[in-house]
Amino acid sequence: MSTTPQGQPLVSMRGIVKRFGENVVLDGVDLDVFPGEVVVLIGPSGAGKSTLLRCINGLERISGGTIEVDGDQLSYQESAINKIRSRIGMVFQSFNLFPHMTVAQNITMAQRDVLGRSADDARRRAVELLDRVGLAEKADAYPDSLSGGQQQRVAIARALAMDPAVMLFDEPTSALDPELVGEVLHVMRELADEGMTMIVVTHEMRFARRAADRVVLMADKQIVEEGPPEQVLDHPTSERGQAFLRQLSEE
Ligand code: ADP
Ligand code: MG
Repeated sequence: MSTTPQGQPLVSMRGIVKRFGENVVLDGVDLDVFPGEVVVLIGPSGAGKSTLLRCINGLERISGGTIEVDGDQLSYQESAINKIRSRIGMVFQSFNLFPHMTVAQNITMAQRDVLGRSADDARRRAVELLDRVGLAEKADAYPDSLSGGQQQRVAIARALAMDPAVMLFDEPTSALDPELVGEVLHVMRELADEGMTMIVVTHEMRFARRAADRVVLMADKQIVEEGPPEQVLDHPTSERGQAFLRQLSEE
């Protein structure tokens, strides 16, 4: 944690505009994320947080501006986008594991198909990562025999198996029963401590305070606050930021 931003940003966004038809949902977003940095993205529903993450890995096509990942500018030719996607791990609110495959098969599939790893190498990596997320004994279980918290940890392991340069999390604990949230946040904090570069959309303010190097608050299609957690969460300067945080504290 507490990385001092240095060198080249791993993700660099300039003037990002995203429209759906006539509807502008991102209106000039600039954001740099440096190697090892943990950026927590917060803001009201509809602010554009998910859209921003989806633009970074090309799931949504930007309408204006530029995105660079590790020095490569995002473009939408298949080979270029696949190269950038292979460097980005993404974890969603819904775990999206394949139900007809075991946990290990879920984690080995893309390693083999995309990275061309051998079955043995992919399995070895899967087991190593399952151990890291506390699920070593679940390699041959099927997803529906696992709790939501366990399934989300498998989804994290699956993303890590691709050796991504950056991990994006979109409300990874929002679909979980409250008692299962902690185990997922724990894994994410360990990842952060190990130096993974992460952009995390979450409403878990304790996680933001403890794990974030920087909190970015989005509202009305733009970034309205950014800085260290204490600054943004305790002393927001924008009206939109103040309103959002007031509402949070009243929940
Ligand atoms: P957040 O994640 O901050 O809640 P989103 O990025 O999901 O916000 O949504 C931002 C805005 O973009 C919303 O107004 C939403 O309705 C709109 N939006 C998101 N995805 C689509 C889509 N595929 N088509 C049309 N509008 C969309
Ligand atoms: Mg969202």
